[in-house]
Formats: sequence, C-alpha cells, structure tokens
Amino acid sequence: MELQQKLDLLGAGAGFDVDEAAQVSLCATAGKPLPNGRTPAELGRSISMLTRSDGKKVPILKVLQTSACAKDCYYCPFRAGRDFRRAAFTPEELARATDQLYRAGRIQGLFLSSGIVGKGEYSQERIVATAEILRRQYEFRGYLHLKLMPNASAAAVERSMQLADRVSVNLEAPTPAALDRRSGTKDLVSLLNPLRLAASLAPRRHRRRVSHVTQFVVGGGGTDRDLLRRTDELYRRRVVARVLQRVFTCAQYAPGRPGPHGPAPGGASVSGGLSHAALWL
Ligand code: SF4
Repeated sequence: MELQQKLDLLGAGAGFDVDEAAQVSLCATAGKPLPNGRTPAELGRSISMLTRSDGKKVPILKVLQTSACAKDCYYCPFRAGRDFRRAAFTPEELARATDQLYRAGRIQGLFLSSGIVGKGEYSQERIVATAEILRRQYEFRGYLHLKLMPNASAAAVERSMQLADRVSVNLEAPTPAALDRRSGTKDLVSLLNPLRLAASLAPRRHRRRVSHVTQFVVGGGGTDRDLLRRTDELYRRRVVARVLQRVFTCAQYAPGRPGPHGPAPGGASVSGGLSHAALWL
C-alpha cells in the first residue's frame, strides 16, 4: 500500500482526539487552507490545526500507527466489529514521512495514536519505536504527542515520557458503567493505570516538562455529576494536568447501539457545554 494511501486511511482516525480544547477537528478543517496555502485534502486527511497556548495555530500530523484494533468502541470507525480494510505504518516509514513533512514546513508536530493490538503492549512498543527513530535518527525537534495504550509497560510509559512533549490516555467515560455503554471491551482500570504511572513519573522529568492529559467523550452515558467527580479526582490527585472533552457529533459506527446523544442511564442528561464550563469555575 502506498504511503499516501496509508496517510489517508490512518490520518482520519486520529482526528477523533482533541489536543487542546480550542483545537479544530479534522472534520472542521476540511477544505480550509493551511498556513502554507495548501488544504488538508491535498495533504491527505492527516494534518489538522493545533491551537497553542499563545493562540497561534500550527499544523500537526495526526495519525494512527495502525487501524487494526481488538476493541469495540461503539463510537469509533476502527472498532473491531467493523469490516473494512485495515492498514499500519512501520515505525520506520511513519518516522520518515513525519520527518519529510516537517522539513518541508508542512507540519510542526506529530500526534500519534493507535488501534489496540492484543492487550495494548505491542501497540505501545510500535508508538515508542516510531518516536525513538524520529527523535534519535531524524533529530526531530517538533512537537510530539504520544498516546499511552492500556497495559503499557512501565518501561514503555517512561520511554514515551522521555520522548514526548505530551502523553495522554482517553478515559472516554467517567465511570465503568458509562464506559460500558460506549465500549463493551474497554475497562476503566486498564486505562487509568498508564495515566497514573505517567503522573508518578512526571516529577522525575527534570530536563523538560511533559504534560499528561485525558479526554472524555461527552454524551451517551454517565451524568454531569459523574464527569465532574471524576475530573475533580483526577485534578486533586494530579493524575492529569488537563482534562479535555469532546462532544461526539460524528456518525454512529455501531448500528443498534444507543446514539452518542441518546438518553443516558437513569434519565440523566449530559451536556458537554455545561460540564465544560463547570470545569473552569
Ligand atoms: S480502542 Fe476503541 S477508540 Fe481506540 S481505535 Fe480501538 S475501537 Fe477505536
């Protein structure tokens, strides 16, 4: 499979993550010009705009290492239950493609996520291998955001933190019951573990600060109270530096399942705008 084809196939999926609250998603940037005058479509659907803390928007390559996944998250186009052509980058080819885009001035960073192969350790190793080649072999100095996979080893989490500017795990839902409504195969403990590990390692990172964040998908399970409680706990225990939220608006990928904006259990309503606002109070 051609590299551009892989970028098109594997770039679309990572667009479901947010990096900053104000970031424009891939859906929203489609067709709009990038700073270099090109459009995302011309570069594959893999480049999106990141809003930095100073308000400046910068293009980053947002991509999956592989779209193969053992999990079955009902909101995700890459869920195991869907029948479509999967693709994967080798660490070498993804590092090379990133370096080429970076040197050509088309991107200023890489956001690297992955489908979960097996229990997650293998996927983490591939992510780390890509980052390692990029930083060491290509001397990449751009922004690097790496996802942490469930069941990632302590060594892999630590290495990720040495290589990245930011690491993250998407908890997606505030409680096990709410997560069950979105994914029959993910469990909250295996998602929380690498995040807690990253938090425990963070004070040891002396050279530079690596931020660790999480994301919740708001809508379709759990209550505002659940979300605020979990967010409060994550901040109080310093498990994350930032909690991001994504209100799910794209198409549902598991026919027959309750929609992302369907009724929440117990009749509670979840409103992304309201709970997001509450985080700033
Ligand atoms: S773990 Fe869930 S959200 Fe992530 S790629 Fe697999 S199905 Fe999609």
